[in-house]
Amino acid sequence: MTRFIFITGGVVSSLGKGLGSAALGALLQARGYKVRLCKLDPYLNVDPGTMSPFQHGEVFVTDDGAETDLDLGHYERFTGNPACQNDNVTTGRIYTNVLQKERRGEYLGATVQVIPHVTNEIKDFIAEKDGTADFVLCEIGGTVGDIESLPFLEAIRQFGNEMGRERALFLHVTLLPYIPAAGELKTKPTQHSVKELMAVGIRPRILLCRADREIDQSDLNKIALFCNIDEEKVIPALDASSIYEVPLTYHKVGLDTQVLDAFGLKDEAKKEPDLGAWERIMRRIKNPETEVTIAVVGKYTNLADSYKSLNEALVHGGIANKAKVKIKFIEATLFDQDEAGIAHELQGVNGILVPGGFGERGAEGKIKAAQYAREKKIPYFGICFGLQMAVLEAVRNQLGIDKATSSEFDEDGEHVIGLMTEWTKDNKKEERGSDTDLGGTMRLGAYPAKLKEGSKVAEIYGTTDIEERHRHRFEVNINYKDRLEEQGLIFSGLSPDGNLPEICERNDHPWFIGVQYHPELKSKPFDPHPLFVSFIEAAIAQGRLV
Ligand code: GLN
Repeated sequence: MTRFIFITGGVVSSLGKGLGSAALGALLQARGYKVRLCKLDPYLNVDPGTMSPFQHGEVFVTDDGAETDLDLGHYERFTGNPACQNDNVTTGRIYTNVLQKERRGEYLGATVQVIPHVTNEIKDFIAEKDGTADFVLCEIGGTVGDIESLPFLEAIRQFGNEMGRERALFLHVTLLPYIPAAGELKTKPTQHSVKELMAVGIRPRILLCRADREIDQSDLNKIALFCNIDEEKVIPALDASSIYEVPLTYHKVGLDTQVLDAFGLKDEAKKEPDLGAWERIMRRIKNPETEVTIAVVGKYTNLADSYKSLNEALVHGGIANKAKVKIKFIEATLFDQDEAGIAHELQGVNGILVPGGFGERGAEGKIKAAQYAREKKIPYFGICFGLQMAVLEAVRNQLGIDKATSSEFDEDGEHVIGLMTEWTKDNKKEERGSDTDLGGTMRLGAYPAKLKEGSKVAEIYGTTDIEERHRHRFEVNINYKDRLEEQGLIFSGLSPDGNLPEICERNDHPWFIGVQYHPELKSKPFDPHPLFVSFIEAAIAQGRLV
C-alpha cells in the first residue's frame, strides 16, 4: 500500500522544504521502505528550463531529459533514486495538458474550470504514483497563502480526503523567527500559517519548525495547543552544519518516528533506521585530513543555488578524498585581463573549474581561464560550456586560428563550436532549427558515450561505456579532432556513432578534462562521481607542489 506525505511550507520561502523532504525520504529509506519524491511547482513556466539561474537556481536534468526544479537534485542525492520527468509538474504544464484536452474535445462540452478540471489534472499527477513506492513524498512549492498555489492545495485536500488518515498525511514546514529586541523566538507566524492551511481545509498533523536556535519546550507546547497538533508532532528543526547532517538531526528529533506513528504504524515507529551511511559521510565531513581550493569561473556566481549540483559534487569529491573543498567563485568577466591579473585572482587555487553556461558574457574570461590552466599545469575541469571554451582556447592559441568562435555568440568567425541541428536518440533522428522554441529543445537527458581505450577518462571511469546527462544546444565540431590531437588535446570520448565529441583531455597535462555533459547531476555523497573524485585528488596533488 502506498502512503502519501504532502509537504507544504509556511511563513517564508527558502525554508529548506526540499531538503527536509529529501531527508525524510532518506530516513524512510533507511528503515527499508521504498520511497518516491515528487514536486508540484505553482509557477506558470511549463518547466524551469527557460528561467534564469539567477531567478530560480539550477535547472536539474533527469535521465529522461526533463528540465526540472533543483529540489529534484536533493531528492536524488539523498535517496539515490534517479529522478524522472513525472516527478515534477508546474502550473504551466498542468494548464497545457488541460487546454490540450479541451481542444481535443475531451471534456465533452463541459465548461472547463479550475475545480474540477485543473485540480483533477493535479490529482492524476499524484495518483499516477500510487503503487510505485511505500511512501510518496509530495512537496508543494511556494508558500501557503500564495494565490497561485491554491489549486494545488485544493487538489491535495481532495486527494487526502479520498485516501483517509491511514494513507495521507500533511506535514507543514514553518519558521520561528528570532526577534532580537524581545530576545525570543516567535510562534505567531506559525500559528497564522497553520490557520491559513486550515482555511483551505487542510489540517497538518506534523509541524517541522525551522529556527536558528534551540526552541523552548514551552514554545513547542504552545504551538501544539494553538494549532491543534499532538505535542510530540511539533518538531524542532534547527540549522545543521552540513546538509548531509539533516537526516541524522531530523531523526534525533523524531521526524521519521512521528511520521510512522501518524500513519498508525506504531510497531514500525519503534524500530531504528540504519543510518550508518549518513554517519560515515558526516564523520568524513567533520574530520577532513586536508583542504583544497577550487576556483569556479562562471557567471551566476552570486547565487549559490545556480550551481547547486556542482557545489555538492565538489563536496562529494572531497568526502571521497577526506578533504575539505573550499569553492572560490570568480566572475568570468574578471578574467578578461592580462596574465598577472589572472594569477592574482587565482592565488592559492588548486584547481580551476569552468561550469556550464549560456551566452557571450564571460566567454572570453573562461577561455583565458582554460589557457591559464593549460599553460600553468593547474588541474582544469570544463563542464559543457567549460569544454567548449577549452576547445576554443586550443584552436585559437595552439592552432593559431584567431577567429575561432561559437555560433552561440558570434555569427561570423570560424564556428569550431556550432549549433547542433540533428543527432540520434534511441535510434531516432532528433532535428532542430535555429528558430525552434527555446524551451525543452536542447539535447537533453542521458546519452551514451564511448571512451577511448587507455585514455585518462577510461581509467577514471573504469570502463569505456558511459551514459551521462546532457543539456546543451551547441557542439564541438569533430572536424578539428586530428589537428587538436596533434597539439595534445585528445578527443577521448565520442558519441557511439563517432560524430559528437563528448570528452576532450590533454595528454601533456597532469589533469585537464572537458566534458560535454553534466557529471555533477549524478554525483551523490555516498556514491561520488568518479570525475569529481579524480579532480579533487589532482587538486590535492597540485596543493602539495606549491
Ligand atoms: N551554451 C552551451 C550550449 O548550449 C553550453 C550549455 C551548457 O553549458 N549547459 O551548448
